[in-house]
Amino acid sequence: MKRVIFLDRDGVINRKPPEGQYVTRWEEMQFLPGVAEAIRLMVQAGFCVMVVSNQRGVAKGLLTIDELELLHNWMCQELASSGAVITSVYYCPHEERPACSCRKPAPGMLLRAAREHHIDLTASWMIGDSDRDVEAGRSAGCRTARILNPSELSSVTANVFAQSLLEVTRQILLAHR
Ligand SMILES: [Mg+2]
Ligand SMILES: [Zn+2]
Repeated sequence: MKRVIFLDRDGVINRKPPEGQYVTRWEEMQFLPGVAEAIRLMVQAGFCVMVVSNQRGVAKGLLTIDELELLHNWMCQELASSGAVITSVYYCPHEERPACSCRKPAPGMLLRAAREHHIDLTASWMIGDSDRDVEAGRSAGCRTARILNPSELSSVTANVFAQSLLEVTRQILLAHR
């Protein structure tokens, strides 16, 4: 069975757009420092890396599914060119209401990935920059890591807290040595 590290996208891989705004064009996809290196380390340690992302901008009509998938293809190609291989990208294109089973904090995307890729969720991790990500990971039975900046408070319990994906990755890989 596969061990997976699930990554949230905005605020983990790329700079999070301001509240209420969405990445709709490639020019707006700004990679955060150390991300390619972090993903490379995960892959070298035997994890598959998958992205699970809420993309409500689709429901809002700000970009189409095709545009979103193109964006993800470019994102994966760009990272793969630095040896940072992402196996799959899952996204929830829905609005908050009516509630769907895939929008985090629901665990639907992780459960679907587990069905499609034969994943051991208890040996897997969810990394995100919001409490919603941690809740989704926990509900799916994964260990969890929360990226937060020093001024930020989190109301959830995660297994790891750190300030960047690279820092989180170092802590996770230490735990798996
Ligand atoms: Mg995020
Ligand atoms: Zn959904």
